Amino acid sequence: MFGFSLPKLIFTAAVIAAAWYGFKFLSRRGAGSKPGAIGDTVRCSTCGDFVAAEGAENCGKTGCPYGQA
Ligand SMILES: [Zn+2]
Repeated sequence: MFGFSLPKLIFTAAVIAAAWYGFKFLSRRGAGSKPGAIGDTVRCSTCGDFVAAEGAENCGKTGCPYGQA
């Protein structure tokens, strides 16, 4: 009885642990690349504001390197 249930218990615990860490890993990755939310941001070296890496717009401050026509 004990010899049968212990490996099953360990296996169940391993599955739960794997699922837990897998979920944490996926949720962490998903938060970084969520569509709709602000994706990758870069810090404007001139004004210090964080702007979107793609399609960055000029923040309006003098000397901002982004969004200049
Ligand atoms: Zn700027």
